[in-house]
Amino acid sequence: MTYICTRTKKRVSSAQAILQGLSPAGGLYVKEQLPRATADMLPFAPGVSYAQRAAAVLKLFFPDLPAERLDEIAQASYRRFDDPRIAPVTMTDDKTALLELYHGPTLAFKDMALQMLPRLIRLAADEAKEGREIAILTATSGDTGKAALEGFQDVPGTSCTVFYPLDGVSRLQQRQMVTSAGQNTHVIAVRGNFDDAQTGVKAIFGDRAFAEALDRKGIVLSSANSINIGRLVPQVAYYFSAYSDLVNEGRLSPGDTLDVCVPTGNFGDILAAWYARHMGLPLGRLICASNRNQVLTDFINTGVYDIRRPFHKTISPSMDILISSNLERLLFELTGRDEKALSGLMAQLKTEGRYELPREALSGLQEEFAGFYADDDATRLMISRTWEKAGVLSDPHTAVGLCALSQYRAQTGSDRLTLVNATASPFKFAQDVGAAIGLAPGEDALGDAFRQAEKTGLKLPEAIASLRSAPVRHTAVTEISDMPRAVLSALGA
Ligand SMILES: *Cc1c(COP(=O)(O)O)cnc(C)c1O
Repeated sequence: MTYICTRTKKRVSSAQAILQGLSPAGGLYVKEQLPRATADMLPFAPGVSYAQRAAAVLKLFFPDLPAERLDEIAQASYRRFDDPRIAPVTMTDDKTALLELYHGPTLAFKDMALQMLPRLIRLAADEAKEGREIAILTATSGDTGKAALEGFQDVPGTSCTVFYPLDGVSRLQQRQMVTSAGQNTHVIAVRGNFDDAQTGVKAIFGDRAFAEALDRKGIVLSSANSINIGRLVPQVAYYFSAYSDLVNEGRLSPGDTLDVCVPTGNFGDILAAWYARHMGLPLGRLICASNRNQVLTDFINTGVYDIRRPFHKTISPSMDILISSNLERLLFELTGRDEKALSGLMAQLKTEGRYELPREALSGLQEEFAGFYADDDATRLMISRTWEKAGVLSDPHTAVGLCALSQYRAQTGSDRLTLVNATASPFKFAQDVGAAIGLAPGEDALGDAFRQAEKTGLKLPEAIASLRSAPVRHTAVTEISDMPRAVLSALGA
């Protein structure tokens, strides 16, 4: 038993935590005791591959799963990446390092975890002797959906159903999803925004009668959203890897502090940095970057989390989120692992749309985190500035991160080396990126990606080039209230 639920502290094994995703009480699973990094991880030696680095982290988090299978999983998970270094670090200037997390099959950082999660779920199912079909159900703000579809495509004993907000993802993201291959993949558009879709999925997970109906058909639900601990753990690995690369290149001495800036939506990516830090990796300030949906910026600055505000559609749609699910894991820690206090806050969020952190918890939050946000104009300006100054083309999410970092530096005078997560390929958001660097938009997003490659001299990733000839296979659209029925029909149940 190594995981506990944030709302009840009930203990489960690693396999159960991975299989369930969300706990039956509606809480998230966290490690009963956060592991300490071993000496060989601080830093990893230059010859240690990314897969080996990831395997070391997996074994610390899942000590009750067979180590040799974790090794195999780590090896298999990064085979489809288009850079042998998997998550390379590139400098935009002396003090700013970009962690390129977009070399996987869907060109966004979600692949770092979602190429691995299906394999972890398969392993967990074997360990738990789970004979039922595992039906993955996911709401996406754009990138998770495609990454999950790619990860689960034709994995035996699983299916993958993705809900996306009909007008809330980029045209290219939509095209990537609706052309997904695989006999076990289902893609359904929802008339609503991402929070509606995510709330709908959560409601299905909480519906006991629905679960029983599926069980009679030999099906059990699981989640690929970043609430699943199997999503979070693979993300811890790249902070260790990036730190090691920077030491091995002589940009840091072992033990030096590295600040981290993360474009944030559901709070998974930045929470993984927090875990790395508390395992002993010398990370300093964790800078949380938001777009105009700046609920996290306000939270970090005031301690008040308040979702009663307008929802903005931005050019960084994967961060158009007001309810950051993974924040619950951090709150659990900030309240001293007080499951009752935490349950109270979560209940308040549900009924009142807001909560306020107790004072000690707020000072803990502010010691480790800083929060800034950027609107679309600032984001576009940053894309054009980094292109002109550094020859680096960043996607809008990454550019939000760079904006936050520049505000942080202006406010604190910090000149510390900072790692900024580059979370998507600029070609995935070709229309907005192109507009920012002065390319007139064309008829469609795909054509724009081709023209952007031509104009910038950068190589168009194969994952986008191949979309041109891929047939549309998924056309379903549903109302929010009809989501449960849509699941049943997709699963043939
Ligand atoms: C999902 C996503 C984010 C936000 O990551 P979270 O883990 O949800 O905070 C940022 N950028 C891109 C490109 C994404 O796909």
